Amino acid sequence: MSASGLPLSGRPALVTGAGRGIGRALALRLARAGARVAVNYSHSQEGAEETAAEIRAAGGEALVICADVTDPAAVEAMFGEVAATWGGLGILVNNAGVVEDQYLAFMKEEQWRRVLEVSLDGAWRCSKQAAKLMVRSKWGRIVNISSVAALTGDIMRTNYAAAKAGLLGLTRATARELARYGITVNAVAPGMIETALTTDMPTPRREALTGRIPLGRFGKPEEVAEVVAWLCGEGAGYVTGQTLCVDGGLHT
Ligand code: NAD
Repeated sequence: MSASGLPLSGRPALVTGAGRGIGRALALRLARAGARVAVNYSHSQEGAEETAAEIRAAGGEALVICADVTDPAAVEAMFGEVAATWGGLGILVNNAGVVEDQYLAFMKEEQWRRVLEVSLDGAWRCSKQAAKLMVRSKWGRIVNISSVAALTGDIMRTNYAAAKAGLLGLTRATARELARYGITVNAVAPGMIETALTTDMPTPRREALTGRIPLGRFGKPEEVAEVVAWLCGEGAGYVTGQTLCVDGGLHT
């Protein structure tokens, strides 16, 4: 624990897709633990500014950065900006993700590619840039936001489940490669979480899904953020290459 008493005090962190939903909860939680947080967004500046304003209102430090994680030059520039502002990077959370649901037989090539490009290629690209900075300081935490769909599969989500399962392989390989530099790399696999991705769900489907969750309810973004904050702290220093499900027991 640092002199300020906050577990992540002064650690520069970057959360992709932090303008809303789970990403916003992650950014707020890391800031509450003392991290300085780069709030990344690709399209909605307003959401990202709101996240940053909330962090600053609570006495934290935030930097809003626009970068589409599918754009290599923009990603490189984003990490350059964080390093120039805070002198390095301690924490990366690869949260950005999209869904393009369709039955396999009708899924278009673009729908397959888009989901892979954002969730998997984007996380690989950001991890690559983060590694360069973290290796220098011999300390780092990378958390990849996967999904329970990576473990169970999901109807109409061949693209999403494949991308999220790919993230688990990326997690394990990166963990092995970067362990010698004091960098841990883990994945968090949320189940059904209350965000824009799930609120539009028809009631019968929501009820059917809730019935399959042993804890009997959808989770909150804050409950995912809690686990990520723990993984980013010193207390999780001997945990790497793992996948932690935050799913109310859905996948057991
Ligand atoms: P969300 O749609 O609210 O958040 C996704 C974020 O990613 C948005 O802010 C979006 O703008 C951003 N994003 C999309 N494309 C991007 C790009 N190219 N570059 C940068 N940012 C981009 O959804 P959410 O529910 O908050 O999901 C956050 C993460 O959690 C996603 O990876 C999602 O797959 C995962 N997840 C969510 C649930 C759930 O039930 N909500 C369950 C399992 C996993």
